[in-house]
Amino acid sequence: MQLISSDQVYALLPTVDCIDIIEATMIAVSRGEANLPPRSIMPLGNGNAMGIMPGGLAEPHIHGIKLVSLYPENPKLGLSSHQGIILLFNTRDGRPIAAIDGASVTALRTAAASAAATRALSRANSRVLAILGAGEQADHHLPAHLTVRPFEEVRVWTRTFANAEAFVARHAPSAASIRAVASAQEAARGADVVVTATASPTAILQGEWLEAGQHINLVGASVASAREIDDEGIARGRYFVDTLAGAKAQAGEYIDALKAGAIAGDHILGEIGRVYDGTLPGRLDDRDVTIYKSLGVAAQDLAAAYEVLDRVGRNVT
Ligand code: NDP
Repeated sequence: MQLISSDQVYALLPTVDCIDIIEATMIAVSRGEANLPPRSIMPLGNGNAMGIMPGGLAEPHIHGIKLVSLYPENPKLGLSSHQGIILLFNTRDGRPIAAIDGASVTALRTAAASAAATRALSRANSRVLAILGAGEQADHHLPAHLTVRPFEEVRVWTRTFANAEAFVARHAPSAASIRAVASAQEAARGADVVVTATASPTAILQGEWLEAGQHINLVGASVASAREIDDEGIARGRYFVDTLAGAKAQAGEYIDALKAGAIAGDHILGEIGRVYDGTLPGRLDDRDVTIYKSLGVAAQDLAAAYEVLDRVGRNVT
């Protein structure tokens, strides 16, 4: 059985390749070609939890599980808030074939999933990117987004201004001009694409700030009790999700807005994989606001992890 480290993951799986892999995986998911039992979250106390995410793919024909410890305070110790491992099994005889670092795969595949959605749903001439949050996800969303649209200006906002400044310092020089801004509103106003990647339990993006033509990726809130956008925001957008079952059970902004009567039950237009394969229209007009809700899908972890394993086997450098 292969053991694969985060260094190997980052060395072997460039973001641009990961974006294509995730897009193909989400098409397979939407066609029912993946086995995705609901994930479970085991609370560990002190705000920590363990996520248990099983799944199986038809192509490559593997099954496996991501086990991920969610420790929100870890970045203060210089560690990823997502510590985990992805175990891959051979579906032919059931043998385990690899254990792959989960933090790196999670970071890469999540940013790749958002970038794929941005490529499909944002206006092709998008120039201004706003990132709300300046943690590990934000770090990966920036380079992933720079590969799919000709961004010239990037604004980053986070709760702690010094962290936004540190983000700017980490990413300079970059293909785009990056600056830290003092409020989420300042970041979002006039941006073509807005990414929310925070651990905030409550809305940090308000519908009244949204402007015609924007595309929004909602990434941070991955449990039903959290949300990053208010009712008006979700009501204003053409709203797509990674999986219908996951969104109905765990998309906090959808569940809350539905309860409040701000949206109807059919507000979810469908799964992003159907937009990718052309069976569901995405953006209809340059003035549409489009929203992609990312909850994270085990199929993305398995596909990305398998690709790394395959590249190790082929000695790809
Ligand atoms: P980090 O801990 O590295 O960064 C967290 C960010 O959220 C920081 O910018 C932090 O601000 C901000 N933040 C934390 N608490 C609050 C709050 N109460 N209000 C406003 N901002 C807050 O985490 P990651 O970047 O790894 O993950 C970000 C989010 O994305 C998490 O919620 C995580 O669960 C989620 N996630 C989603 C995935 C998906 O598939 N959709 C996959 C992986 C993660 P500050 O500057 O103050 O530190």
